Amino acid sequence: MLKLLQPDLYVESIHKIDFDYLRSQGIKAICSDLDNTLVPWESDQANPELLAWIEQARAAGFTLYLISNAVPKRFAHFAKLLGLEGIGRAAKPRKKAFLRALRELKLPAAQVALVGDQIFTDVLGGNRVGLFTILVVPLSQREFIGTRLMRRLERLVLRRLQRQAP
Ligand SMILES: [Mg+2]
Repeated sequence: MLKLLQPDLYVESIHKIDFDYLRSQGIKAICSDLDNTLVPWESDQANPELLAWIEQARAAGFTLYLISNAVPKRFAHFAKLLGLEGIGRAAKPRKKAFLRALRELKLPAAQVALVGDQIFTDVLGGNRVGLFTILVVPLSQREFIGTRLMRRLERLVLRRLQRQAP
């Protein structure tokens, strides 16, 4: 179980993702969570740094795709604003949306990365279908109470993982 909660990479933000390293791992597409990964939870704007990152990822040869649990209206707003395809109301960590993403991307799981800020939705869901999982620090601390409770569990898991690290 602990293995399924462990990301392949843990970085501060999307801007710290090393595209060359991903390419060396055979990754061709990057699926990303939306809230608190690309944009703060309370925001409906995209900052210039995010738009630049999207361009850099594309220039580096990656296909970008959104997999978000956001409600349809919010998802549609950002999909349009960012110019990205994807799946809203994805019900992560259920496997269904991840499997649909692989079908639409026409790629095997081993060639797809999943970026997200939550262990129990993004990392767990991505690992369940065999994606290369990347955990980032959440952009905003203002979250649903339910999410805050999950954070406490996440901290416990991260501490255990750190103790296991060589
Ligand atoms: Mg998130």
